[in-house]
Amino acid sequence: MLADSYGRVATDLRVSLTDRCNLRCTYCMPAEGLEWLPKPELLTDDELGRLLRVGVTMLGITEVRFTGGEPLLRKGLPGIIAAASALEPRPKTALTTNGIGLARFAPALAEAGLDRVNVSLDTLKPDVFKDLARRDRLSDVLDGLAGAADAGLTPVKVNAVLMRDVNDDEAVDLLRYCLDRGYELRFIEQMPLDAQHGWRRDTMVTADEILDRLGAAFDLRPADDEERGSAPAETFLVDGGPHRVGVIGSVTRPFCGACDRVRLTADGQVRNCLFARDESDLRGPMRDGASDEELAERWRAAVATKLPGHGINDPSFLQPARPMSAIGG
Ligand code: SAM
Ligand code: SF4
Repeated sequence: MLADSYGRVATDLRVSLTDRCNLRCTYCMPAEGLEWLPKPELLTDDELGRLLRVGVTMLGITEVRFTGGEPLLRKGLPGIIAAASALEPRPKTALTTNGIGLARFAPALAEAGLDRVNVSLDTLKPDVFKDLARRDRLSDVLDGLAGAADAGLTPVKVNAVLMRDVNDDEAVDLLRYCLDRGYELRFIEQMPLDAQHGWRRDTMVTADEILDRLGAAFDLRPADDEERGSAPAETFLVDGGPHRVGVIGSVTRPFCGACDRVRLTADGQVRNCLFARDESDLRGPMRDGASDEELAERWRAAVATKLPGHGINDPSFLQPARPMSAIGG
């Protein structure tokens, strides 16, 4: 088990497959991109397959989410998904993607064993998309969403981050768009994880504001009293259901006490929290010949020291050195 000293057990593994991306969302990456991890430092598909096996068969991981950067840029993605899906007990598998290229890849990913996707969609306006993501690719994202649904990667979930005076007028339109197509929308509060340190508490769009805006157009009732468990999204039934919308108040409504996540970076570092300032290296020991049991022990030790909360709201909060684009969200 991957247990920490506060009684939480990590069962949900988030794996970043690359730190590269074909978008440059302003809340995530600077316009010029970042210094990418050198290829020799990345886990190979085989190394990753081994760590997935250790995580699932020795440490109780039951859910694996692949993320990035942009995970669809990782060449061996179908093989990696197939390797994860072949493990016993079979973990649930999911992918968080910006959706570009998903229309083309979705059938192969479903064939490889992928269960479902989260696609990031912050705006329905091409010009806003072009400013926000610094690339003119909205139609590719919308095609990707449709392709994922057609390939059965369902429920298709949509992640949206609202930024003040950029796309915060689109909450209702985004929800209508998703309701009409059967996608499950979740709004995520913007977090201080961008490489360029552009996050400001006083301008961030809060969960309360998002709910106010949605509440003006829809009847929202809490849906999650019994079901929420470790899920970060507070879920609401829309107009009596069955459709739902989620709000992830990472900053103003932290859910650290119920967190069941652990992260693995593309270069083989375990992070016990999105906001952790320390990482534990599995790649080095693995390349130096560590046994599965030794890797599992390092992984356990990494999770054991997880802090009780992310501390964003403490005056002493310091952003982690590794930006969101290299952790994966
Ligand atoms: N490129 C993929 C994508 O965009 O879905 C996967 C990686 S991305 C880092 C994962 C999620 O993190 C996306 O839904 C994105 O909107 C979200 N994200 C990125 N930076 C964020 C920030 N500063 N605050 C909140 N969410 C953020
Ligand atoms: Fe790329 Fe995802 Fe970051 Fe946007 S949020 S720049 S798509 S990694």
